[in-house]
Amino acid sequence: MNNRLMGTLLTFVAVAAGLSFATPSHHDTHLKTDADTTEGVKTVQSLGTVKADGGSATGSASVTPAAKRWQSKTVTYKIASGTSYYKSVWGSAVKTWNRSGVVHLVPTSGKADITLSNSNSPQGSNSSTVGITYSSYYNNKTLNGLAVLASAKSYVYTNVANHYHYSKTERTNVAEHELGHALGLEHNVGKKSVMYYATRSQSVSKPDIKGLQHSYR
Ligand SMILES: [Zn+2]
Repeated sequence: MNNRLMGTLLTFVAVAAGLSFATPSHHDTHLKTDADTTEGVKTVQSLGTVKADGGSATGSASVTPAAKRWQSKTVTYKIASGTSYYKSVWGSAVKTWNRSGVVHLVPTSGKADITLSNSNSPQGSNSSTVGITYSSYYNNKTLNGLAVLASAKSYVYTNVANHYHYSKTERTNVAEHELGHALGLEHNVGKKSVMYYATRSQSVSKPDIKGLQHSYR
């Protein structure tokens, strides 16, 4: 995704989600921000065209595309969810990505690269967005042609997941999707990828691992 498009999408998500992006006090001109969401799947009919929400779902379904990556394959994370239920959801998502053997997500009590959490959607429980990831990246650094990430924060929207009766497994799939964005992956055009824009029943699969391997080669 080019930067101009990214800016457009960021604006879209900010408006749609009713969120304001406060300028960080430690404003760094080398950092840009981005936001990616997961569409909730209500019915089969809601599976339409890919919504322009940060998912430049282009190319082959066999390799999940990426726009960003971390500098190192070892990435620190912190689970900020207060409940044991969501700690378990995020813990499973971390384990699944670690099982790929490509990246090594390690917990930290200090400042983490990735923060994983849950909250209520500001759009209300019947919002079509069940997860969101905010990230920032350096605009003067690339690796394998990808922007280098500086920070990421992923959320599962509790009220939306409750409203649409997501099971714990389905919430874990959303968590895996958001963590995929936090690792730099974009949307996959195919439904057999956890990075399909409206994933619900799909977990991390072969195209996602291939995409990650390609990013972190
Ligand atoms: Zn997404």
